[in-house]
Amino acid sequence: ENGAHVPVLVIGTGYGGSVAALRLAQAGIDVHMIEMGMAWDAPGADGKIFANTTNPDGRSYWLRTKTEQPLSNFLGFPIDRDIPRYTGILDAENFSGITVYQGRGVGGGSLVNGGMAVTPKRENFGTVLPSVNADEMYGTYYPRANAGLGVNNVDLAWWETTDCYQYARVGRKHAQRSGFPFVFVPNVYDFEYMKREAAGTVPKSSLAGEILYGNNFAKKSLQKTYIAQAKATGRVAISPLHKVTSVAPAAGGRYTVAIDQINTSGDTTATKTVTADRVFFAAGSVGTSKLLVKLKATGALPGLNAEIGKGWGDNGNVMCGRANHLWDPTGSLQASMPTAGIDNWTAGGAFAEVAPLPTGIETFASFYLSITRNPNRAAFSWNAGTGKVDLSWQTAWKQPSINAAKTIFDKINAKEGTIYRTDLFGVYKIWGDHLTYHPLGGAVLNKATDNHGRLHGHPGLYVIDGSLIPGNTTVNPFVTITALAERNIEKIIATDL
Ligand code: FAD
Repeated sequence: ENGAHVPVLVIGTGYGGSVAALRLAQAGIDVHMIEMGMAWDAPGADGKIFANTTNPDGRSYWLRTKTEQPLSNFLGFPIDRDIPRYTGILDAENFSGITVYQGRGVGGGSLVNGGMAVTPKRENFGTVLPSVNADEMYGTYYPRANAGLGVNNVDLAWWETTDCYQYARVGRKHAQRSGFPFVFVPNVYDFEYMKREAAGTVPKSSLAGEILYGNNFAKKSLQKTYIAQAKATGRVAISPLHKVTSVAPAAGGRYTVAIDQINTSGDTTATKTVTADRVFFAAGSVGTSKLLVKLKATGALPGLNAEIGKGWGDNGNVMCGRANHLWDPTGSLQASMPTAGIDNWTAGGAFAEVAPLPTGIETFASFYLSITRNPNRAAFSWNAGTGKVDLSWQTAWKQPSINAAKTIFDKINAKEGTIYRTDLFGVYKIWGDHLTYHPLGGAVLNKATDNHGRLHGHPGLYVIDGSLIPGNTTVNPFVTITALAERNIEKIIATDL
């Protein structure tokens, strides 16, 4: 409520924010979470909370009048379509050189992601978070994060025979015939439920292609894990469709937080001001960076240091498809939750997730999202002319990612006598190099903050999301974001509260 005071205000309800809220509440502290997206707890006109991937509607996109599908074309034809403007679940946020996909709503990215719950290889951790003690992470915080997230593994005997992972078995065959390690990865989708989907005994979610616009069943999003636990403490309140616009020092070491309440058309219906003893920035790499860059540049938080907005990377994301021979079908039924990847990180700087193309028809295509070693880092900056925050990333900066992905797929194509698909991202375009699903950085740990996420210059302000991570996690990022948040909040509760 306008004028209220709260002990702790958390901006955003993704991984970092949910960990903070739960652990603070368990320590006896009242927490208020502010989330710009919707609650996603009520069914739409079709009786379902979330829209299907192949049939997008207003629920699918954040305030757009046309879809912006990551795979924009099929057989060369554009597949985007008009939709009503609505506070939908997936934001395709366009910067000049890259489109950054993010989840919007209570649960953040956990609502829209592929659920791949991957802990980086221990030997790579030094490049992921150089200032963090690896023994503590692998001994305590990664296990705590995996437990909190409800991570599980696919039953390999079932995986070997089910129609819905034929595409993944084809991916394995091609990887292994070219000598690449093929590794299974855990997921937060309940694989026992998926078995029942395949058997036809429960409503379908992963086997109905649900992923990008939410899963109606069996994906353990944060709503079902950390946030459910946090709410059960009775100490956590959440305000959806509320967007934080400013944080500034107030009397008594407190902070004044300005918040716009919005409707489902995105219009501001009320402006509120609250005070908080402590504020956690958990608006995601882009959301937190945009807020901090603006607040530093406009003088609201003058003590922030020169590292704010820097060190942003795309986790080296690049997509591609390969055209298989007609005797090598990938299956018309494809589980939307990936289970495995091709690991050429050490030799070639690429970890390629064998991804589904859940179109419902046989495409003879293998599709991959590669996470690559890309050294390029961008910065956010305040544009006083437009009143917006810009990002300096350039499309050409994806070239190292393309080169890394080619270390895998050029070899597989040569071995199999196959070619790249050129019809998925435009006309005669091989690489999906215009986007990322994995924004990281902008308020890097031990640079913009101290080694536990305390922002320099303003005691009581913390960063606790993907913006702490300097641009690359070598694998999919949410387990690392969660584990780092577990580490930092434990320290903060012990020493600051
Ligand atoms: P987020 O989860 O992004 O949460 C931030 C929240 O803050 C959002 O809900 C946002 O609406 C809210 N917010 C932002 N600004 C404000 C504001 N000013 N006021 C109020 N609220 C605000 N990762 C994996 O590890 N495995 C995968 O399989 C995987 N697949 C993915 C697939 C897709 C399509 C996408 C988009 C992402 C995927 N990711 C995956 C990435 C993963 O989801 C993100 O890395 C993760 O969600 C980031 O967590 P976070 O806590 O930093 O922020």
